[in-house]
Amino acid sequence: MILEKLKNDVVLGDGGAIFELERRGYVSAGPFTPQVVIEHPESVRQLQTDFARAGSEVIQALTYYAHKEKLKDIGAEGYLKEINANAVRIAREVADEYGIIVAGNLSNTWSFDPSNAITYKETRSQFDEQIQYQIEYGPDFFIAETFEYLGEAKIALEAIKAVDMPSLITMGFKSDDKTLDGILLEDAFKELEDLGADIVGINCFRDPKLMLPLAKRLKKTVSCFVATQPVAYRCSKDKPYFQIQEFDGNIAFPLELDPFVLSRFEMARYALEAKKMGINYIGACCGTAPHHIRAMAEALGRTVPNSKYSPNLKLHTIIGDESHIKEQNARILCEQRYGKAHCHFLTKT
Ligand SMILES: [Zn+2]
Repeated sequence: MILEKLKNDVVLGDGGAIFELERRGYVSAGPFTPQVVIEHPESVRQLQTDFARAGSEVIQALTYYAHKEKLKDIGAEGYLKEINANAVRIAREVADEYGIIVAGNLSNTWSFDPSNAITYKETRSQFDEQIQYQIEYGPDFFIAETFEYLGEAKIALEAIKAVDMPSLITMGFKSDDKTLDGILLEDAFKELEDLGADIVGINCFRDPKLMLPLAKRLKKTVSCFVATQPVAYRCSKDKPYFQIQEFDGNIAFPLELDPFVLSRFEMARYALEAKKMGINYIGACCGTAPHHIRAMAEALGRTVPNSKYSPNLKLHTIIGDESHIKEQNARILCEQRYGKAHCHFLTKT
């Protein structure tokens, strides 16, 4: 289903639900785990509905960090099954209402250590466990994301292939173009493609401007579908990933990232550039909200359910067109901008 769709056109993904639900008050920054799917399922359903109405064609089940290692760490191991099952159930309900696709989701485990063979088995069994609980509610394919070790990404791919589902495997690159196990980006993705990944891509950490040059190299290397899921937080060449941005002399991650949020126009430009570059799956990651996704969808020429509420600035009483601008507002605006002396022409006589 996802692969058929990708053959016909670019597919627009969704955004960083964990960060958006943190802003909305339902996820705790720090653990960043998704108990929200069992404690406040209505907030997840609403956000995923918001993404769907903004034009997302895929809803990712909110199972980021819903693996044994992380849940054990915060004393929530007992909820592993419930969280994984509920996340897919909610995503399925929303997706069915809007006729879109559900992605099951696996993520970096923090268990994997390339120098310790035992951790290969541990990592695989955590992925198998999550897949087993998620698959019951009928995801259409799996996204395995935010891997910094090629070794761990390969284990996720094997686990997805073991249940014969299409796979989108994304890796994250912070300061350079190598995986944490020292493999150059091109070689890492070629290996994933050769091992049978259907879609490969880059996600998280970098903003679109710093991710697309890497994606261009990836696109030249593989012949399978390619995905990009950048953060919607501004980065810079000397600070290439979002966790090291500084605000007021302090590290902004994770609680003071607001000043770095990209505008909807920047995300819209990203969608267009990615399409031009031949990226097949255009999504987003941490920091992205539904207004970004709608701007991306509309930049791609689409009209989506919530296009009904897209900006209509001509109706504004201060900056609108002549028939809607109110004289007193125009006068206030003129005086603020240019000073009273210059605005006589707007003064009633
Ligand atoms: Zn992210």
